[in-house]
Amino acid sequence: MIVLLLGAPGAGKGTHAARIADHTGLPHVSSGELLRGAVERKTELGVKAKEHMDAGSLVPDEFMLAWIEELLDDSVYESGIILDGFPRTVPQAEGLDKLLAAKGLATDLVLLLDITQDAAAERLLSRVTCGKCGAIHNLAQKPMEVPGICDACGGELETRADDVRETIEKRFVEFRKQTEPMIEYYRSRGNFETINTNRAVDAVRQDIRDLLDRVSAATS
Ligand SMILES: [Zn+2]
Repeated sequence: MIVLLLGAPGAGKGTHAARIADHTGLPHVSSGELLRGAVERKTELGVKAKEHMDAGSLVPDEFMLAWIEELLDDSVYESGIILDGFPRTVPQAEGLDKLLAAKGLATDLVLLLDITQDAAAERLLSRVTCGKCGAIHNLAQKPMEVPGICDACGGELETRADDVRETIEKRFVEFRKQTEPMIEYYRSRGNFETINTNRAVDAVRQDIRDLLDRVSAATS
């Protein structure tokens, strides 16, 4: 089963992708996490990606497509994949469709996590990530028992460099310009669902589970 998770910055893609991975047993790939990893290791992709991320803009389509082509050849993803953060533009979506079609595959579910910009911005500004276990915590929803320390594993919490107000605004501008047309592309092609994520996280999780079970039953 191939699942694409779409949504504005702060819509909850990372959080829900991890839960979908738990629920379905499928591997989760976050393009943002992979890019940040490449930046830290200063790989060729990382060095180029960093210039764009520092400017709050998107990494060019051809980089992203070359990366996803390599990724899809890995046998780890034979049974399926949950992609979060890719594609982000119409050319990326068209490129992905072609890559999948060449393998006799297609997306089974394109899920848009929908949220207002104000709610998303508030969420991003109170978001921290654990440097050890990778858990994403929202301090506005649930403060940690010891400030700065992950409740789950005791690791140190980090704020992402691009979760500051100025960069968040730029990411929303990019989202409206590049990603909203792509959402329309998928909306017109079927297998497209929307879930409002501006609600209690457990209610959202349950709705996503019900949806996945329906899609999974229909595709198996
Ligand atoms: Zn942790």
